[in-house]
Amino acid sequence: TQELHIVGGGMAGSEAAWQAAHMGINVVIHEMRPKVETFAHQTGNLGEMVCSNSFRSDDDEQNAVGLLHWEMRAANGLIMATAEEHRLPAGGALAVDRDPFAETVTAKLKALPNVRVSYDEITELPAEGHWIFATGPLTSPALGEAIQQETGAERLAFFDAIAPIIYAESIDMSKAWMQSRYDKGETEEERTAYLNCPMDKDQYEAFIDALLAADKTEFHEGETAGYFDGCLPIEVMAERGRETLRHGPMKPVGLTNPHQPEIKAHAVVQLRRDNALGTLFNIVGFQTKMKYGAQADVFRMIPGLENASFARLGGIHRNTFLNSPTLLDHEMRLKSKPNIRFAGQVTGVEGYVESAAMGLLAGRLAAAEILGQEVPQVPQDSAMGALIHHITGGAEAKTFQPMNVNFGLFRPVDGLKGGRRGRKDRYKAYTDRAKAAWQDWLNTF
Ligand code: FAD
Repeated sequence: TQELHIVGGGMAGSEAAWQAAHMGINVVIHEMRPKVETFAHQTGNLGEMVCSNSFRSDDDEQNAVGLLHWEMRAANGLIMATAEEHRLPAGGALAVDRDPFAETVTAKLKALPNVRVSYDEITELPAEGHWIFATGPLTSPALGEAIQQETGAERLAFFDAIAPIIYAESIDMSKAWMQSRYDKGETEEERTAYLNCPMDKDQYEAFIDALLAADKTEFHEGETAGYFDGCLPIEVMAERGRETLRHGPMKPVGLTNPHQPEIKAHAVVQLRRDNALGTLFNIVGFQTKMKYGAQADVFRMIPGLENASFARLGGIHRNTFLNSPTLLDHEMRLKSKPNIRFAGQVTGVEGYVESAAMGLLAGRLAAAEILGQEVPQVPQDSAMGALIHHITGGAEAKTFQPMNVNFGLFRPVDGLKGGRRGRKDRYKAYTDRAKAAWQDWLNTF
């Protein structure tokens, strides 16, 4: 059959349908709302924004999200074009009037002669036909179960527990050092897999005070129902006792600070490589529900992280997502059932823009496959390519957590050094390189 079935008409599913339909494919969108509701969606519209009304920065020269906007516009993206029509003043950000935005997305899709919307919940992974599952962070429980049966329970998570991620270049290595606890590991690389930041007693006590005092966010009503299985935020650990962290993720044992070998650290914060490129590090065990502003202040109290630049801050949310690095191939096909693709937030990207972007890729790739067109691999130097490469291969599978687009996912540009001016030039070089690579790829269609 030449039909493409898309499950979920959110950011990703709507964009995937638009792209495939414009390549001449007959598309059926299966959307469970309004029949089956989620705790966050309010309407039966396609492309509903569940929380903020912002697509974040629109700067396509200095910001990785803005670059994704540019790439989607260049690819006739539905979400970006419709956002533009319903744009609200918001400085450098792309904010939209959410209800007319979603109504227009719905109307534009329904106006296409080769798109049909079927309001039903899909609860299994079909063995036949071409399918894209773009069911999002609130994938229905019945479908979640079916996915787990296919992938194994441990490969589909119902919550994210995101520790802050820091650009390696912003860490002060005159205070931090690389060493695995007790120098464990077969190879030199494994024995130096962690980056350590030491604290003395006063620094530790001040850090605990700051954690306890920081502003926190609460779970939404209905968000934890039947799911949350205890991946404790650090501030909750601190509330349980001032020493809890020192006996947990911040324990100082098995580590020697080469900058001060004679002094025993009172506590040690460990960071772990977050991508194969080695440009990003996450803070081990530091999932948190502190507000973003508070996080940056509190984490910069850690010696070595005073000038840390964050690729993303931490959070804990209801979020259904796959362990994509092990389950999906480079075109987002389920390795064990390649007639099925996943797209959007369920693949382990995070945010409206990133989800729509992965929908755009899935729609095009599925349509090309149905048409028997050979398409070269999505170029890694584009923002699209950096993201898809990260989730399907570049990320560490064992500790995989959802990811926003950011320049840490890009291959370094040679010859451009750090510093403020340097950073501007580097980002410009990333975005120039990305646009050229993306345009080349689009030209193959
Ligand atoms: P969605 O947009 O959620 O679309 C998935 C669709 O699939 C839904 O319409 C759903 O009804 C449908 N569906 C689910 N299961 C089935 C099924 N079995 N059969 C048929 N249809 C099904 N991102 C931001 O950028 N900014 C924010 O402020 C923000 N706040 C958020 C707040 C909350 C509470 C949540 C849960 C998420 C938030 N996100 C935010 C993330 C944002 O929702 C996603 O990034 C984006 O919507 C994901 O797009 P998607 O297409 O993957 O999923």
